[in-house]
Amino acid sequence: MASIDVHKVDKKFGKVTALEDVSFSVADGEFFCLLGPSGAGKTTTLKIVAGLVEPGGGTVHIDGVDVGDVEPTHRDLAMCFENYALYPQLNVFDNLASPLRSPLSRTPADEIRHRIAHTAGLLGIDHLLDRSVTQLSNGQRQRVALGRVLVRPARAYLLDEPLAHLDAKLRATMRAELKSISGGDATTTIYVTHDYVEALSLADRIGVIRDGRILQVGTPGEVWSAPANAFVAQAFGKPRINLVPGALVASDDGQTFASADGAFQVPVPSTDVGEGTEVQIGIRPRDLRLHTGAGDVPDGQVRLEGSVYVLEHLGRNTEVTVAIGQSRLSVIVPRSEVSSLARDDKVGVLMNPHTVHVFLAGAEGKRV
Ligand code: ATP
Repeated sequence: MASIDVHKVDKKFGKVTALEDVSFSVADGEFFCLLGPSGAGKTTTLKIVAGLVEPGGGTVHIDGVDVGDVEPTHRDLAMCFENYALYPQLNVFDNLASPLRSPLSRTPADEIRHRIAHTAGLLGIDHLLDRSVTQLSNGQRQRVALGRVLVRPARAYLLDEPLAHLDAKLRATMRAELKSISGGDATTTIYVTHDYVEALSLADRIGVIRDGRILQVGTPGEVWSAPANAFVAQAFGKPRINLVPGALVASDDGQTFASADGAFQVPVPSTDVGEGTEVQIGIRPRDLRLHTGAGDVPDGQVRLEGSVYVLEHLGRNTEVTVAIGQSRLSVIVPRSEVSSLARDDKVGVLMNPHTVHVFLAGAEGKRV
């Protein structure tokens, strides 16, 4: 096992800046997810840690040792990249055995059989061991590729979207398996994904990356409940967090937000910026409630007046988009509560000011 420290790493490909000042640390035994959209720089980061791409600047330390001059094979990291390459002439067993039979590994035959049985069992491919890899589905091939990484003890695992080609059901099963594998052996892991559910469910900590820059590193709880900026807030949750542009305005007690079109005002948690500052508020759809009747507004909540804009049924729940002036707020409600609602009906939206996040204006407006 090993700790990994990436410090101020830059990388350019010609004129394209792939990474800019990337720093994060992964502790011994930690499961670290690098989460970001396509082109964010996730794979490049992993390849730099692996030694397959040379950084333009900055350092990578493994267990406190600068590995700048250490060849990939001597870094003792096990890697699985998205375009997994299996040996087509070998069956599944021999593909899984190949990292254990390398001259560096020198694993005894009994130990090889034992490890393969264990890993194949975990990944649900034990019935495929005799099959040629050319006779496998994409999902099965991906599990073999992942198995080839996990079968070998290594100081750390570097996994690049290892579940990308699996169907939804298998992904969910494999997520649970990976969690138990990582929990059981607690091998240091850097796991690249663009899927926030995967990151939240697997990671000890998550690094959110965009345009080659790390925007936040934190536990799943931290990135969810205290996103560093509006982009990070939008990266987690479906439907996405509601963002409403506006400004802070004067009020008697605490701070108040006024939407840009003047359609509504709400008290917000106090910020470190003053009145007149252009901000946006973020409210998660699950933190809002519909208030359709004329009953009292519960203590500590505010009611905003709007009308139903769109109703979208999502199984047991319904996403109701409510129009309040120019703003559109998504609210998630149990389907049974909205059976009589139709477009343009007048509704109230209940908001608890303590669940409101305040960010400066802009796509990466920082939390204030
Ligand atoms: P994806 O999720 O789509 O795989 P990613 O977050 O892994 O994306 P990278 O593959 O690291 O992103 O790419 C980061 C940026 O660097 C992109 O703009 C990409 O086009 C560019 N890039 C990556 N590798 C090369 C290369 N070998 N030559 C030129 N540009 C590259």
